[in-house]
Amino acid sequence: MVEVKKRVVNLKMFIDGEWKDAENQDTRPVINPANGEVISYAPEGTAADARAAIYAARRAFEEGVWSGISAQERASYLLKIADKIEDYADELTQLETMDNGKPLREAGFDVGDAAACFRYYAGLITKPDGQTYHVADPMQAMVVREPVGVCGLIVPWNYPLLMSVWKIAPALAAGNTIVFKPSEVTPVTPKKLFEIFEEVGLPKGVANMVMGAGAVVGNEIASHPEVDMISFTGGTKTGKHIMKTAADTMKKVSLELGGKSPNIIFADADFETAVDYALFGIYAGSGQVCSAGSRILVEESIYDQFVARFVERAKQIQVGPGNASGTEMGPLVSQEHLEKVLSYIEIGKQEGAQIACGGKRIVGNGLEKGYFVEPTVFVNVNEEMRIVQEEIFGPVVVIQKFKGEEEAIKLANGTIYGLAGGVFTNNGAKGLRVIKKLRAGITWVNSYHPTYNEAPWGGYKQSGIGRSLGTFGLEEFQEIKQININLQVEPIGWFSN
Ligand code: NDP
Repeated sequence: MVEVKKRVVNLKMFIDGEWKDAENQDTRPVINPANGEVISYAPEGTAADARAAIYAARRAFEEGVWSGISAQERASYLLKIADKIEDYADELTQLETMDNGKPLREAGFDVGDAAACFRYYAGLITKPDGQTYHVADPMQAMVVREPVGVCGLIVPWNYPLLMSVWKIAPALAAGNTIVFKPSEVTPVTPKKLFEIFEEVGLPKGVANMVMGAGAVVGNEIASHPEVDMISFTGGTKTGKHIMKTAADTMKKVSLELGGKSPNIIFADADFETAVDYALFGIYAGSGQVCSAGSRILVEESIYDQFVARFVERAKQIQVGPGNASGTEMGPLVSQEHLEKVLSYIEIGKQEGAQIACGGKRIVGNGLEKGYFVEPTVFVNVNEEMRIVQEEIFGPVVVIQKFKGEEEAIKLANGTIYGLAGGVFTNNGAKGLRVIKKLRAGITWVNSYHPTYNEAPWGGYKQSGIGRSLGTFGLEEFQEIKQININLQVEPIGWFSN
């Protein structure tokens, strides 16, 4: 295994094929959330830096150095990128753990998925697309797909590498040029990804990366008239702000936002399977997952038994640094986010909910230097509580009780969100019936969380607009052009003179 040092060389941005500091030389520290240590410094990019990246992407797009080459040529670059991600898998895995905090096991899955995502879009872009139409003679009508142009891609900190790839792979496959902004909290693996782009020789200006505050760099990307599309993943509040900002220049907007997803457990479910997936649904990624099953709804007759078993197992989860052997759940991503999650736990207590386990920051054995929170379970909750309605984005779950299908569906759909949901039952017809009533874009029956490059990812309601992954994820980054060809070239004769 490659040995990654505790400190990463200071980061730079990648603009028009060159590695750059911020124009004013400002930097900000990048912190390891497992111990609070500075692992690197990242450029604190400015609006001027963002504009330099936008102009480079625009020039590259207009010159056709990327959109003008064949799909097969673009695919060959994407395949090389996938190979390189695999070559650097050890390093990427360790860097992701160091920067985001997630256990090595989770980071390793993300790296494998990232390579597979590039391969998927390399394959897809060379497959047939478009349509032809049987319209009245002498016309022939057809549709072709074209790149949107310059795409602004803004990603959060919970899957620093994978969220980047979910946007970059289809955007590049479609022939767009990109201006990408990682989260300021987790820029380390995105930077490594751009080193790979340089290694495989992507033409200058095709892929640009700007670091800096969302309110400065992100805002410039969302508002600039030379950016044709904005694709954003992050919080719903930021998503609304970006949509409003992008409206002035009528950009195409694609948003993957927050969730408060229900996991419905019927009494006839396989009990241990349901408990197991429910634990995975909330505590994977320390609950910092947009699709987390953060509301578990359990049928009344098994409620007490379920809570007892869930709590028994939640207490046994091994929490620790992501790179320590045996760690099953890592820290939260930052001090700021730790404070947010702890404040929600206080809100829950004040609202009258009861803590069945957890509820505290973890101290002792050196963990007080990092941002660790116990796996937490709230019971005695009701629909009005903020901890039931709002996205906490941490290892905090509420377990609600329901009587029968109708109430389960009502509770499940009872938030502003509609990202994901799961149903556990051994009655196949009931499972499908309930899933069909869920107002959510990603659902599972007798499972929770598996995600596939082949299948679309995104939400209903305030969980977003548009889809990532699969064929839908490619279409987000394409324009559709209608072409009508006159097969009999002679005057139409509409006017008599
Ligand atoms: P944000 O939504 O604020 O940030 C996500 C990305 O957007 C970051 O790159 C951020 O930059 C950027 N950004 C922030 N403000 C703007 C802006 N005005 N214009 C353009 N880009 C902007 O997420 P946070 O990190 O602040 O987390 C807040 C909450 O959002 C979490 O607690 C969680 O509830 C939710 N969230 C949901 C995610 C999901 O996958 N659904 C992922 C992450 C967060 P910068 O890093 O500089 O702030």
